[in-house]
Amino acid sequence: MTDSIYDITIIGGGPVGMFAGLYAGLRDANFQIIESLSELGGQVNALYPEKTLLDIPGQAAIKGRNLVDNLQQQLDTMNGDINLNETVTNIVKSDNVFNITTNKGTSKSKAIIIAVGNGAFNPRKLMSDGADQFEGNQLVYTAKNLDQFKDKTVLVAGGGDSAIDQALMLEKTAKKVYLLHRRNEFRGLEHMVDLLKKSSVELITPYLIKELKAAEHDQVTVVAKKMKTDDDFKEINVDKILVNYGFISNNKDMDNWNIDLEEDHHATKVNPLLESNIHNVYAVGDQAKYDGKQTIIATGFGEVPITVNAIMNDLYPDNHTPIHSTQLSN
Ligand SMILES: Cc1cc2nc3c(=O)[nH]c(=O)nc-3n(C[C@H](O)[C@H](O)[C@H](O)COP(=O)(O)OP(=O)(O)OC[C@H]3O[C@@H](n4cnc5c(N)ncnc54)[C@H](O)[C@@H]3O)c2cc1C
Repeated sequence: MTDSIYDITIIGGGPVGMFAGLYAGLRDANFQIIESLSELGGQVNALYPEKTLLDIPGQAAIKGRNLVDNLQQQLDTMNGDINLNETVTNIVKSDNVFNITTNKGTSKSKAIIIAVGNGAFNPRKLMSDGADQFEGNQLVYTAKNLDQFKDKTVLVAGGGDSAIDQALMLEKTAKKVYLLHRRNEFRGLEHMVDLLKKSSVELITPYLIKELKAAEHDQVTVVAKKMKTDDDFKEINVDKILVNYGFISNNKDMDNWNIDLEEDHHATKVNPLLESNIHNVYAVGDQAKYDGKQTIIATGFGEVPITVNAIMNDLYPDNHTPIHSTQLSN
């Protein structure tokens, strides 16, 4: 952080916050991004880097991690400050400048773009006996890199879309994939459930993971108990366990920012320019709420130029607003 006053502070470095940085740079804004995680990329990087996204305009099919890499390359062409491992805890307006407080210090900015998604997120943990000792090694909550599952025996736990996607994705890489779920029915798209049933993924239902125990060769014994029984147990030795019980997100930090939030989803209410109830505080991406809002990346990308140009028009009314980032002729 610097002592200077930023034109724009972007809170949250997910895909939409990253694009906001690029666009702020294209407008010659003096900007910073503040991101609470150790890496940029938000949900895409933290939750599904190996997923192939089909709805990013201009990309026939792109893996989450490659989308984040591309956004990073674009962002690197700009001179903004990127502050990682830093969480914004408060913003207070005084004399048309915002004082931003984080867990690491303070900074000042003339405008703010809130791009915090649903807030900071953490995986819903496996609470079974013995689970703690394997966390981060044999037990993981996201498939960060498919190579770690190559030729391994893997157990995926969970019954939603994401668990099914991951089991099918791992089927191509792993030696053997089990999918364990506490119900017989899966909560996935019908097409994906059909694929799952035709796949080589072995379904273990209706079972719950009771305990994890160390086994030979760095393996883990998964002790699973059949639902509604007391003594029907199964033991499976695996190299990796990928738990997919969803994520818990919260943006409690925003409670003190005096921003009008939409009640159910804790998202920011915005006007058609994506501005909140506070002048020069905008919201984009999953955090912005208005009628018809779709929380997908393409929507968030589309919101960014609207907010950045509105801010720059307000701060520097004599500068003209560009329609395109480049011109065909002078
Ligand atoms: C499993 C799954 C699959 C998906 N598949 C698709 C898909 O195929 N196509 C698609 O378009 N969308 C998909 N989405 C939705 C997509 O991921 C979101 O729409 C997108 O990530 C929103 O981007 P964002 O930048 O607004 O927020 P996020 O990606 O949530 O990023 C917000 C960032 O803000 C940070 N942050 C939060 N609070 C603070 C704070 N106080 N201070 C500093 N930093 C903070 C967080 O750490 C996070 O990095 C999927 C989502 C999930 C969960």
